[in-house]
Amino acid sequence: MERAWKPAALNEAPRSPVTSRGPTRLRMNKRPVSASELEQGYESDKQKSAGMKVVRAKDELRSALEPRRGGHIGLVPTMGAFHDGHLALLRAAREDCDTVVCSLFVNPSQFGQGEDLERYPRNEARDLELARAKGVDFLFAPSPEEMYPRGFETWVEPERLALELEGVIRPTHFRGVATICLKLFNIVRPNTAYFGAKDAQQLAVIERLVRDLDLELEIRVVETVRDDDGLALSSRNAYLSPTERRIALALPRALALGAEAARDGDDPVVVARAALDEEPGLKTQYVASADYAGPRLLAAVQVGKTRLIDNILLKGTSK
Ligand code: AMP
Repeated sequence: MERAWKPAALNEAPRSPVTSRGPTRLRMNKRPVSASELEQGYESDKQKSAGMKVVRAKDELRSALEPRRGGHIGLVPTMGAFHDGHLALLRAAREDCDTVVCSLFVNPSQFGQGEDLERYPRNEARDLELARAKGVDFLFAPSPEEMYPRGFETWVEPERLALELEGVIRPTHFRGVATICLKLFNIVRPNTAYFGAKDAQQLAVIERLVRDLDLELEIRVVETVRDDDGLALSSRNAYLSPTERRIALALPRALALGAEAARDGDDPVVVARAALDEEPGLKTQYVASADYAGPRLLAAVQVGKTRLIDNILLKGTSK
């Protein structure tokens, strides 16, 4: 079993069953933003903040947000290495909210051992400029010690949803995601938090967390932003060589074929898997359909050393 990162000398909290249900408050981004629209540049942004403050400490962020509590606060959690997908979330938040907080934290606890924590792309200076240009008010970029101080030992342990698909391959991943998101929600206390449909299972886990733990916030979903060739934008695309990138295109192609098959009444999973099997350069980890913010066809593949996930809405519907 894969071992998760954890702060030194800490014990894991025991698993506890949490099974309550509640109403969903998930809604889709009312105005999808295309990559080309984003490429038009920052000047197209209607609202800009007077200046962005970079905050490293939780207490400092809490104090800075205090006078803003009367207005609508939006949170965009990220691990940085910004691309147009991240910028679409920031744009949605800027359109909705009086105050936009973007967190930039490569969360060690969501990486398993042997995963890419050390080499995960980081470019804080560039991210800072992009966030500033998108009108972010507060960029929260804490250190690992700030988020996981010595003695940290309490974890959020999502169950069923977190154990399928990604959870089979990355058994401790969603525990890290759910824990850091709950911490960020408690520090920022946003009215709305923004997540990408690119990570559809993560979105479902977070939505479940919000319902099960009675959190008072709304989740807004921004659909996947893709490159012109169809590849979903991801910070990890930076790992791909030109040849691997060509191979990786089989992933969105297979999903599109699967979605088309579903419209014709065929099994999208069978069709997408067959399409992936035709590309010898990649290894398919899973192809599945699930209801994560609408019915979706999802797949994960390995191209060289790079793991890629993607999904597509089936029947063009959303919740
Ligand atoms: P990350 O920095 O990879 O943890 O992603 C931060 C947020 O951006 C998550 O909510 C992701 O789902 C979202 N995101 C990542 N890639 C994309 C994309 N291509 N389109 C839309 N959202 C994305």
